[in-house]
Amino acid sequence: MNRPTAEGTVSLDKVIKRFGDNTVLDGVSLDIAKGEVVAIIGPSGSGKSTLLRCINALEKIDGGSILVNGEEIGRRATPGGRYEYAELTPQQLARQRAHIGMVFQSFNLFPSMTVLENVTVGPRTVQGVPAAQARANGMARLEEVAMAKFADRYPRTLSGGQQQRVAIARALAMEPSVMLFDEPTSALDPELVGEVIKVLKDLATRGFTMIVVTHEMGFARDVCDRVIFMEGGEIVESGEAHAVFSSPTNVRTQQFLERVL
Ligand code: ADP
Ligand code: MG
Repeated sequence: MNRPTAEGTVSLDKVIKRFGDNTVLDGVSLDIAKGEVVAIIGPSGSGKSTLLRCINALEKIDGGSILVNGEEIGRRATPGGRYEYAELTPQQLARQRAHIGMVFQSFNLFPSMTVLENVTVGPRTVQGVPAAQARANGMARLEEVAMAKFADRYPRTLSGGQQQRVAIARALAMEPSVMLFDEPTSALDPELVGEVIKVLKDLATRGFTMIVVTHEMGFARDVCDRVIFMEGGEIVESGEAHAVFSSPTNVRTQQFLERVL
């Protein structure tokens, strides 16, 4: 079912995720509006990456529901009844996931492909975009991250910041309505963080729905609409970014911010 009004929204309802007997997401509920830019902060092991991976259907959830663009991710209602769901076929899942861009800490570019090939492979193979059009679109996306002049280079010849900008262009090439970033600057040398933050700031002004797991507290406070603090698989605090930083209401948030700021 396609409800155009839900495009760009993300909605989690009491999401449970377990690895064995370790409950990693313990009833996470969250509604994100189209165009909203949300930072997720919290200590290591609190479930931030798992949350993004569940939103992108890289992990299956054990309870609750996740809607992206108003559609249940990874599952579809069966004709039998409202609360019965069936798994999607790999093709259906790929089509759903094409609307969700994901950028990882470690870039994950395809090493045997050039920069431009990295950016065009998804549109060509998943969306069936003709090669010439995919190349033109890909060059436009590379322009947006100031990487067009490196189109014919291989990832290993680029700096970490350059590789991450290509990874962002690759995600953008699928024309996603939601972008997920998992610590996009954590693997970078300090002097390269700024160039990636600049790209993220630019995207934030362009109406993308963005969920950014980050340790860059300046970025979270100054660029994001909302900050969510996670600990132990739960959302402990969620609020307007400046408010959370200047006067966190939860003592665990206060303690975390005292440690990192
Ligand atoms: P964060 O990103 O906040 O550091 P993660 O989501 O990576 O936290 O991890 C949350 C918890 O889930 C940790 O205890 C971690 O060990 C566990 N975990 C994550 N991925 C897996 C996995 N594939 N198998 C088993 N345990 C996992
Ligand atoms: Mg993580």
